[in-house]
Amino acid sequence: MFNNKILKIMPYVLGGLILVLIAVLVFMKLGDDSSEKETKVASEKTADKDAETISSDLTDDKTRIDTADEGKDTKVVDSGASLTEIKPEENIEIDPTPIPEPEPEVEPEPEPETEAEPDPTPTPTPTPVALEFEDKDDYVETKSDVNLRQGPSTQTDVVANLKTAKRLKRTGYNKEWTRVIYEDKECYIYTPLVTGTFDEPTEDGNAAPSTQTGTATLTTGVGTPNGHIVCIDPGHQTKGNSDKEPLGPGSSEMKAKVSSGTSGNTSGLAEYKLNLTVSLKLRDELVARGYTVVMTREINDVDISNAERAKIAADAGAQAFVRIHANSSSDTSVNGVETICMTNENKYNAELYTSSRKLSDAILNNVVSSTGAKKRYVWETDTMTGINWAEVPVTILEMGYMSNKDEEEKLIDDNYQNKIVLGIADGIDEFFR
Ligand SMILES: [Zn+2]
Repeated sequence: MFNNKILKIMPYVLGGLILVLIAVLVFMKLGDDSSEKETKVASEKTADKDAETISSDLTDDKTRIDTADEGKDTKVVDSGASLTEIKPEENIEIDPTPIPEPEPEVEPEPEPETEAEPDPTPTPTPTPVALEFEDKDDYVETKSDVNLRQGPSTQTDVVANLKTAKRLKRTGYNKEWTRVIYEDKECYIYTPLVTGTFDEPTEDGNAAPSTQTGTATLTTGVGTPNGHIVCIDPGHQTKGNSDKEPLGPGSSEMKAKVSSGTSGNTSGLAEYKLNLTVSLKLRDELVARGYTVVMTREINDVDISNAERAKIAADAGAQAFVRIHANSSSDTSVNGVETICMTNENKYNAELYTSSRKLSDAILNNVVSSTGAKKRYVWETDTMTGINWAEVPVTILEMGYMSNKDEEEKLIDDNYQNKIVLGIADGIDEFFR
């Protein structure tokens, strides 16, 4: 009976033992997964005898930071049940100072996203700023052929090269660099390459004033400012433009926009080149004397009509519009200097006659005395488009005759050109006195 009873309960006992065994095996398997990780971390710690271990047991979060000496740091963050191992990139800086008893709410150190500096002192992104920027909210005009850079340093990338002068919004300034906006991007231009400042953008917000093709530039700030603005117009350009424009405002009489000018009989030098050479020297002389100078062009390859040149002078608020030319005659013996202005009966701007005549006389007399050239006269005429459109006192200086062998020789001479420039500048000084 007893044996029978045992036999009867044996299957239940065996079944129970099997269930217990299965339960134990399942439990052991789960245990292996986590102990593998802990073993791995533990072995790394063991290998590093100098490592400092900071560990803290928190109720919910456990943070452990193992710091090794050569940057092979391992950070272990145990959040709740899952143990996560994070291996940061090499050279990540972790403060080696032991953290005493972290606060219960302490966050694990934020993970550096990029490579950290090996320097233990945290440094901000290095920017080569030498000088502070003064905030600005206006417009500047650049010289032609200038670079706009990503940062205030020639070490930074060139964002754009401006072939022609441009007016740009200015947001910052120091003696070395000017911060401007170009095509919605903030960039920098070397301050000496900025030629002038303005309150307004131009019509299209991004061009030289009053002409689409001009290179009008304004130069200022070198000499002690004397408060006067002079517009210099180097006559002609590489190619004339025979399209017509009115001889004066409202006139039905039309004249070619700009002619190609004369050239030296012997040297073959084009008048437009000579005019620009002298005009650039004059610009520098006037700026040195404290004038603000507006150039209608600073290169030869432009297309600016005579009326447009007058408009440039007016728009710039010039108080004198000085147009530089050289003369020619079929009579090769003719030589000497003359200036040109309107008559006192000019239909368009006779109110400028007195001042223009004064400017013409002053420049003629002073150029003659500085060069020793023959004094011809002031020619009063209303046939010049660029004079008729003028809104400020105007004169044309005919520096000499390129058709006369002796005078041509002088005109192409650097020293003689300097004498002409001094004469013009003295004449302008006299005009403003
Ligand atoms: Zn000319």
